[in-house]
Amino acid sequence: MIDEILKLFATRGDEAYFGEPVSQKEHALQAAYQAEQEGAPASLVVAALLHDVGHLVHQLPEDIADQGLDGRHESAGEAWLARHFPPEVTEPVKLHVAAKRYLCKTDSEYLAQLSPASVQSLALQGGPFSDAEVREFEQHRYFREAVRLRRWDDRAKIPGLNVPGLEHYRPALEESLGFRGADL
Ligand code: FE
Repeated sequence: MIDEILKLFATRGDEAYFGEPVSQKEHALQAAYQAEQEGAPASLVVAALLHDVGHLVHQLPEDIADQGLDGRHESAGEAWLARHFPPEVTEPVKLHVAAKRYLCKTDSEYLAQLSPASVQSLALQGGPFSDAEVREFEQHRYFREAVRLRRWDDRAKIPGLNVPGLEHYRPALEESLGFRGADL
């Protein structure tokens, strides 16, 4: 599984990250590094690293939002990861788009700092949550992890930032796979 992930980033990681100034791989590495810097558990570091893997496993055009389409990458990513990873990894990934809609409703400063591409996709994703949707989201067991992941996601768009590479995360990947992953 780990080799499969590394290969995926090697073959598709250089693709653009939907209207942002970094590649998919740079975005993933910056998100994971912030998680690690904040002392997040291995499962959440891995979730940050792989939160957009749905973009890499799907053949979707880079300008998908310009075409008025939502690729539902969070569901594709969760399904791909759930073959091997536990809910501690897959649930924050699944919820990271919902967490954006949640933060747009609950944090007045959040919307103002979203990137233009992220604002554009927000409308396609359903816009900010309603009060009822906020309450429902807070019932979710992993909603706090999803919100943390979301904030790393939003900040992981800095061109040329020097951060550790993929191999740095092999121990966290092995840990969150329960040490089964190395030979899968
Ligand atoms: Fe992202």
